[in-house]
Formats: sequence, C-alpha cells, structure tokens
Amino acid sequence: MTARHPEILIIGAGIVGAAIAYRLAVRGANVMLVDEARAPGCGVTGRAFGWINIINGTPTHQNYPLWQRALDAYGDLRQELPHVLQAARPGALVWKATREETEDFGRLRQDAGEPVKLLDRDALSRLEPRLRHPPDLAVFSPQDLALDPAALARSLVAEAVKAGASTRFGQPVSAIETVAGRATGIHIAGEMIAADTVVLSAGAGVGRLAADLGIEIGLQSSPALLLRYGCSAPVVGHILKTPRVEVRQAPDHALLVAKSWSPDADADRSRKIGEAMLSVLQEEFDLPDGVTLLAAEVGVRPMLADGMPRLGYLPGVSGVYLAVGHPGVILAPLLGTLAADEILNGKATGLTASLASGVNAL
Ligand SMILES: Cc1cc2nc3c(=O)[nH]c(=O)nc-3n(C[C@H](O)[C@H](O)[C@H](O)COP(=O)(O)OP(=O)(O)OC[C@H]3O[C@@H](n4cnc5c(N)ncnc54)[C@H](O)[C@@H]3O)c2cc1C
Repeated sequence: MTARHPEILIIGAGIVGAAIAYRLAVRGANVMLVDEARAPGCGVTGRAFGWINIINGTPTHQNYPLWQRALDAYGDLRQELPHVLQAARPGALVWKATREETEDFGRLRQDAGEPVKLLDRDALSRLEPRLRHPPDLAVFSPQDLALDPAALARSLVAEAVKAGASTRFGQPVSAIETVAGRATGIHIAGEMIAADTVVLSAGAGVGRLAADLGIEIGLQSSPALLLRYGCSAPVVGHILKTPRVEVRQAPDHALLVAKSWSPDADADRSRKIGEAMLSVLQEEFDLPDGVTLLAAEVGVRPMLADGMPRLGYLPGVSGVYLAVGHPGVILAPLLGTLAADEILNGKATGLTASLASGVNAL
C-alpha cells in the first residue's frame, strides 16, 4: 500500500503525543503538535515516576502482552535514538512483606517468562549498600528502566521537529471543528487550523474534547502523588519497590517517591505525606545529611476501567484519532509506532476492539 502524507494535527505534547509526533514525522508525514502548556511533558508526564517495566503488570491481564511489546518498542527506540535514553538507569528490586510472598511473586514472574532473579540478603546488600534493613529475599528485574518522562517527551518532540514537524505551545485547543461528521481542523486562540486528521492525545483532557464531539470515552481520572527530595549523594542505584516505599534516584541525585493519592485530599496533605515519607526514607536508608522535600505534586493519570489504552479512529466522527491510556510512559513508544502504522498505512492496531467497546455516543 502507498503511504499517504496527510496533514496531521496532534493535540497534546505529553509522552504519548510526543511519541506519535516523532514516529509520524520521521516517516515523512506533515505534522503539527500543539499543547496548551509552554513546553512538552508539562502534563501528568512531568509528574510520572518513570518506571519502564512489566513486573507491575499482571500476567493474566489482557494488557500484559501489550506491555511486553512496549518493552520491545523501548529497545527499538534505544537503537534508533541512543542519546534520548542515555540517562536511563536499568534494574528494579521488588520485595513484599514476607519472604514467602516475595518468593511467590518472583516465581509468578519467572513462569510468565520475565528474566527476573531472586536475590538473597547478601546479594541485595551488595547492590544497594545504603539499605538499613535489607530483607531475606528480593526480586531483581534487570530489564527495567528508570527514566525522566518529561525529558524523553522533550527529546522526542525535538527529534520530530528535526524531521520536519511544527509545534505550537502555550494556547489551549478550544474545540475540534467538524463538517458533516468529519473533522476538518481545530480551534486555537480564536484561529481555525485545518487538518485532515486530528490526533487526540491530550491525556486527561481528551474526555472534554471528545465530549464536545458528542462522544463519551469512559476516561477515569486517577490522581497519584510524586514526591521529589533534594539529595547530595547516591543512595539507591535501582528502582526499589518495598512494602514501605517506591523510590528511585535521578541522575542529579534527587530522590523520587511515587504514592497513591485520594481525589478528596486537600493540597496541604501532599506536603504532609511528603514529610512523612522523608521519615520513612531516613528509617530505611543511610541518607546523607540535608535531604529535603522539594516538591509534592499530584498528577492525573488518564485511565480506562479495563486497563487498556484507547488507540484508533473515533467511531461516529471521521478523521479523529484517539490515543490515550495508562501506563502512558511505558506504552508511549509502542503507541507511537502503532498510531503511525494506522494513520499512514491503514494498518489496524488491534486495539480497536477496546475502542469500540469503551466509546459511547453521548
Ligand atoms: C505519581 C505518578 C507516577 C507515575 N508513574 C508512571 C510510571 O512509572 N510509568 C508509567 O508508564 N506511567 C506512570 N504514570 C502515568 C503517566 O504519567 C501517564 O500515563 C502518562 O504520562 C500519560 O501521558 P499523556 O501524554 O497521555 O498525558 P499528559 O502528559 O497529561 O499529556 C497531555 C497533554 O495535553 C495537553 N492538553 C490537554 N488538553 C489540552 C487542550 N485542550 N489543548 C491543548 N493541549 C491540551 C496537556 O497540557 C498535556 O501536556 C505516573 C503518573 C503519576 C501521577
């Protein structure tokens, strides 16, 4: 089939929109990427923990094969653009409340084909010497990556621009224009920009834009908290998920902790949780002096009840392509490739079944 080169307008320069823009642009499409923020990765992508893994997936869940393909897509990206993943750190360590639970967890992952190893206390202490209370047993997943999702979004947008994409930041898209059931462009800052295809990758913002078209996509906004601590020295070399804390360390030594968050909680609570987690870090790790809470930010994760992303043309309005789902950082390079294959070459993503079942006319 001959590839078409349509005018494609992508709404949302989070990790998902950035990956789609990059993939479309390097394949020669005429792409424009727009975002209401001033730079790529300022939505929930800028508050993500940045753990690329399958170890948190459920082997029996329908999204598990997708996560496996997503890890392969990161491998492809690393080959193509080694510099964008240069700062990514490999390896995660996970343990549960009891040795038996950790062992069961590790065996489940091994039975699913994941290359995990069970490590005893001595081996764990060699990997993470600043742990104060290493458990008897931990599961080591060497293929996992820790990366900065906002930096990756910025790099992908920069690569898209190098390949000819244009960008427009700092103004919200107020509506998608349609004529006789077909999208013809977007409205932004009182201006209409025409396009053959509009890609809706606006994260938690897709619900409102789709609703304006009379379509309910069933998005559930799921907030989570990212805590960032200033730290002057290396503390952990891998991602650690323990019964008390999920933590990693950035290349500038900042310690990042991900926490669940209740939608009903007030903003003050985020700093209180941040201070409480600092005590946990002090109990669990040999920290240098002067570790302080820098930021406690809530991000709204765009999730669907069935745990599957939505990737494909919206039914009911032609020319609108929906790309949203969780975990977006893990899935983004794969979604970028699948979306480009479908938009440019008409190759079905295999994800339209979930799209059809999860989308309703309002
Ligand atoms: C604490 C925490 C930890 C997380 N950890 C992980 C993790 O380890 N791994 C993982 O895979 N995922 C993780 N996530 C989830 C991850 O952050 C999201 O799945 C992912 O970032 C979604 O990316 P996105 O591009 O769809 O959305 P976004 O990053 O929100 O991008 C959407 C963009 O659209 C723009 N936009 C919205 N509406 C409009 C409009 N009307 N006009 C113009 N622009 C608009 C926004 O400004 C935004 O930049 C975590 C999330 C949180 C909060």
